[in-house]
Amino acid sequence: MRIDLHCHSTASDGTDTPAELMRNAAAAGLDVVALTDHDTTRGYAEAIAALPEGLTLVTGAELSCRIDGIPMHMLAYLFDPEEPALLAERELVRDDRVPRAKGMVAKLNELGVPVTWEQVERIAAGGSVGRPHVATALVELGVVPTVDDAFTKDWLADGGRAHVDKHETDPFEAIRLVKAAGGVTVFAHPAASRRGRTVPESAIAEMAAAGLDGIEVDHTDHDADTRVRLRGLAAELGLLVTGSSDYHGSRKTVSLGRYTTDPEVYGEITRRATGAFPVPGTGGP
Ligand code: AMP
Ligand code: FE
Ligand code: FE
Ligand code: ZN
Repeated sequence: MRIDLHCHSTASDGTDTPAELMRNAAAAGLDVVALTDHDTTRGYAEAIAALPEGLTLVTGAELSCRIDGIPMHMLAYLFDPEEPALLAERELVRDDRVPRAKGMVAKLNELGVPVTWEQVERIAAGGSVGRPHVATALVELGVVPTVDDAFTKDWLADGGRAHVDKHETDPFEAIRLVKAAGGVTVFAHPAASRRGRTVPESAIAEMAAAGLDGIEVDHTDHDADTRVRLRGLAAELGLLVTGSSDYHGSRKTVSLGRYTTDPEVYGEITRRATGAFPVPGTGGP
């Protein structure tokens, strides 16, 4: 069983539509794929409608959080997408992404970059708008050669010249909200140091005590030593360990199924969840 529990579509900052993502996941030989767009569940319906036979969809989202000024991402799986409190929090975060992106456009204009909100809006194409869309605009304008090159202090990295904060949820509140909606939480890429400051182990221990289910260990932003350290931490704290690609289509270089999750861990996630069930593909109507 090949299980990839972290993928993005055009519902946020990926480049495959949800339907393309499902077809590509099947073509990559996956048995289970999770759709985890940033702060949104908008891709679910299209993904379910396009789900090929033999592929199972785990519905989810990647929630933007912040602890002690440090941004972090919380993966949430198999929660009830209609549950009002979690839905309201997702909307709050997602809606705040628009003025925030406009703020980054304004800062870029001040730096002499002729990017417009219309351009960013076109690139985001109705998805949950984020820095990768602004970064794509910078590539189009020839300001930087690649999306990754826009994530520096010169441009869009945390604290960078054109960076603007967005509303982000306290992770303890996220754990509480997801649980109340019947979902399971996994701290995404907890030691991705190239993105900036990372959350201390003491805070991860507090999250574990507050009901965090797992941490994502096998991820492209973790080197071999970091994975060993995180596995040890997970064992100590009784957390599940996942691995996943964090696929973003052509906006990042990682391919579907590059890292995967152990079937036993996947089984435990599905046993703990009560808000939604994995959707088996039937090959369409
Ligand atoms: P946002 O949610 O708008 O703050 O953007 C965060 C997204 O930007 C992440 O989900 C990644 O897709 C991308 N990202 C963050 N840091 C980097 C980085 N150092 N290099 C490339 N992409 C990044
Ligand atoms: Fe992303
Ligand atoms: Fe993330
Ligand atoms: Zn992600």
